[in-house]
Amino acid sequence: MEEKLEKIKSEGLKDIENATSIEELQEIRKNLMGKKSKLNEVMKTLGSMDASERRTIGIKTTEIKNVFSLELSNKEKKIIESKSVLDKPIDLTIPGHKISRGVLHPLTQMYYDLNDAFLSLGFEVFSEDDISSEKFAFDNLNFPPDHPARQMMDTYWIDGTENKSGCEKLCLRPHLTGASVRYLLKHKAPARFVYPGRVYRNEDVDSGHERAFFQYEALIVDKNISFSSGMVMIKTILEKVFGCEVKTRMREGFFPFVEPGYEIDMECLVCGGKGCSVCKHNGWLEIMPGGVIHPNVLKAAGLDPEEWTGFYINIGLERLVMMRYGVDDIRLFHSADLRFLEQFK
Ligand SMILES: [Zn+2]
Repeated sequence: MEEKLEKIKSEGLKDIENATSIEELQEIRKNLMGKKSKLNEVMKTLGSMDASERRTIGIKTTEIKNVFSLELSNKEKKIIESKSVLDKPIDLTIPGHKISRGVLHPLTQMYYDLNDAFLSLGFEVFSEDDISSEKFAFDNLNFPPDHPARQMMDTYWIDGTENKSGCEKLCLRPHLTGASVRYLLKHKAPARFVYPGRVYRNEDVDSGHERAFFQYEALIVDKNISFSSGMVMIKTILEKVFGCEVKTRMREGFFPFVEPGYEIDMECLVCGGKGCSVCKHNGWLEIMPGGVIHPNVLKAAGLDPEEWTGFYINIGLERLVMMRYGVDDIRLFHSADLRFLEQFK
């Protein structure tokens, strides 16, 4: 009986060694270890043996099973490792996978276009951190201490700074204008620069308002800057961005950091001036507040208001993009919805 077992073992190992495919190996496993295998037949006769022979043959049979099991899995690994992906015939006529192409976010496209337009007019691009302070967001900009914009309802103050004031009281910048004083303190006048970035306000979100949005602000500080030269600049920028003449109108506006202040509206390009949800049904959209820099802001920047003057414009980037493409909901820009974003390829 032991000789018979040795024969089963050596033949089995030879079969495993000669296998060349996984399918073949599965068949061999069935023959060596399955119900109808020679080993199983030996097991069935154990009952008719005497005790000591049964023990010896039983141990031997189990040993051989273990050896087969180990060798089968080793061989399986070998076959898988040596298998090439090119084993199967290749059909060169099957179309390949299309490589998907990314695209700049429409806000980024507009941001770059504005940079190009301003750089061509001799402006520098400046950026500061998103976290600012009460001093730069309000004190420097001639906001009275009790101005409602300082309160929690508009500005996100940073945890742990409520008892502090000035530079120590930190906030997410509610507008970009603070960067203008930061730049002027460092670079002095004359200056012409833009400072694009994201700003944060605790607003109710609707189709025209978001809690975080992009602004794009520009400032010229020089001697003898006239109001009309600022207006020429605005018209030039809008024409460069939209590639055509855009109807605009100017209204009086009030902001603490300008005197006089104004609001520039452009005709709503989504509805062509007829009225829609984007323009709140009046055909015009406020896109650029601005004005002549307030003497107190110049003083905060270390400049003499008798000597220097300046001109701010603040562009709502999202609104310009809404006008450019006829987008009627500002929330789409931050929705990360590919169905929306892929339209700007
Ligand atoms: Zn409209």
